[in-house]
Amino acid sequence: MNSEQGPKDIKAKRDEGVLIITWADARVDRLGFRDLRLACGCAGCIHEFTREPLLDPDTVPLDITIAGMSLVGNYAIQINWSDGHDTGIYTWTRIREVANGRAE
Ligand SMILES: [Zn+2]
Repeated sequence: MNSEQGPKDIKAKRDEGVLIITWADARVDRLGFRDLRLACGCAGCIHEFTREPLLDPDTVPLDITIAGMSLVGNYAIQINWSDGHDTGIYTWTRIREVANGRAE
């Protein structure tokens, strides 16, 4: 691992609607799918320059789920959401922010 300490394990628990992330330091974070979807930082959800939120939370289904995930290098995951949104990349730092309730 480099300076960005990544997870040891990532599991999508679809029956509970949570992503369970076990970090290298043994900390475990449970993130609700919808919270994570709402925290998407892609250019379609947050304005690239003004950082203004563009995503209307009402358009995100309450029962949103993860259709697929893939690793991006060793610093992030890309999530394919069941609402068809797949441009969001979640860095380990971002995931920790969401888990800590410091999502912007
Ligand atoms: Zn997005």
